[in-house]
Amino acid sequence: MAQGGLPMDRKDETSFDPRTWGGDVPARSHQDATSFDPRGWAPKGETASPPRSRRRLLVPLLSGVAIVTALGVVALTMRPAAPAGPAPIASGSADAPAVPPSRRTLMLDAPSGIEPALLAAGVDRESAGDAARRALAAIGPARGEIRLELDLREQGARATLLAMQATRADGAGLALTRRVDGRLAAQPLSANLSTRVRAVRGEMDDDSFYTSAVTAGVTDSLISEFANAFSFDFNFATDVKPGDIFEAAFAQGYNPSGEPVGVPRLLYVSLSTAAKSRALYRFQPPGGEAGWYDGNGRSTVRALMMTPVDGARISSKFGPRFHPVLHFMKLHRGTDFAAPTGTPIFASGDATVSFAAMKGANGNLTILRHDNGWLTYYLHQSMFMPGIAPGARVRQGQKIGEIGTTGRSTGPHLHYEVHIDGQPVDPMTIPTGGTSKPLTGGALAAFAQERDRIDRARAEVD
Ligand SMILES: [Zn+2]
Repeated sequence: MAQGGLPMDRKDETSFDPRTWGGDVPARSHQDATSFDPRGWAPKGETASPPRSRRRLLVPLLSGVAIVTALGVVALTMRPAAPAGPAPIASGSADAPAVPPSRRTLMLDAPSGIEPALLAAGVDRESAGDAARRALAAIGPARGEIRLELDLREQGARATLLAMQATRADGAGLALTRRVDGRLAAQPLSANLSTRVRAVRGEMDDDSFYTSAVTAGVTDSLISEFANAFSFDFNFATDVKPGDIFEAAFAQGYNPSGEPVGVPRLLYVSLSTAAKSRALYRFQPPGGEAGWYDGNGRSTVRALMMTPVDGARISSKFGPRFHPVLHFMKLHRGTDFAAPTGTPIFASGDATVSFAAMKGANGNLTILRHDNGWLTYYLHQSMFMPGIAPGARVRQGQKIGEIGTTGRSTGPHLHYEVHIDGQPVDPMTIPTGGTSKPLTGGALAAFAQERDRIDRARAEVD
């Protein structure tokens, strides 16, 4: 950028990307004094590990995802926890970064809704038609509630269907799983399927939450959901360190001969760090949507999520920074999350879209106006999801776009800002919203029953 253009750009620019500083010596010394080393789980000051392990943070994670994903929802092999050897998940080139698969659960009124639901999720016509036809043949066309679970790998507005399970209220239905050869293999689910709860416990390695969870035996399509359950309580980039303990419990269906069938369903997650411990239970209150609740029946949902992206690391914090090239102090008005291009960006709270377009140095920018009057800004996006336009309503956690490096940016990252009363505030320290209201009456009683059922099952697994 020419010097002559700077005053204009600075005025236009909501953000400042520290990687455009041109020299990282002042930046590093500043960061080291205050922050977590974003290049790995390893705490700052740890110098013994080879550069390789730092660089590995995202690259093998992503290529690992690609490989595991290709196998679909199959049993994951355990690998030794010792981090000494080479990465057990084969690492390859980072040319084709993939994002972790995600799970979507939909309740439909009739089997005829399956194909439209697949198309709306971004699945191509041929796969959607094939999957819907086979599900319909298995469960019949009669109306009635259908539970549809989709494991998807999303790339922009398109999605690859990795697995699908369509079941009626009695549990009868069909599971489809994409095999290595690309075909969807079918598995009928009978109504008398028994469900057992499986629990796995693991420890954070020095790589990423993804590799840690895969090591522990968490099915890859559940890992995003696992991390998202904690999106109000932990910032995975700063709060979680190697050695921290997590647990997941999920329901798995078994046929009469004891073979696991269908996709597992996450029921319980817990995470213990040096600072705090949280255990959350999945519960669907009568007439409401399923969500995560603590042991006392209090919903985790708050006004804003702490981290509006999956699996990102913080590459720059909010605060005053000295610009080594221009030699003046400038406020970094938000938090930078570095992640590969294509990583989903989520609306951090329920909101109305107030801006979604290219805007100078900001690149592709989305501005959301939240129901409490706060604004959130999402900069440098590679794309906007269809329908994200001024006036559109978005829900908390809804994908609004993908990480990119548009505008003044030297590498893929999300610059995220929160404005309260017109002033930018540190997204990492704002109160993420008032206390949520706990369940009461019959809903609380139903929750307690479900919580105790999950806890009994977890105890049996041990
Ligand atoms: Zn920034």
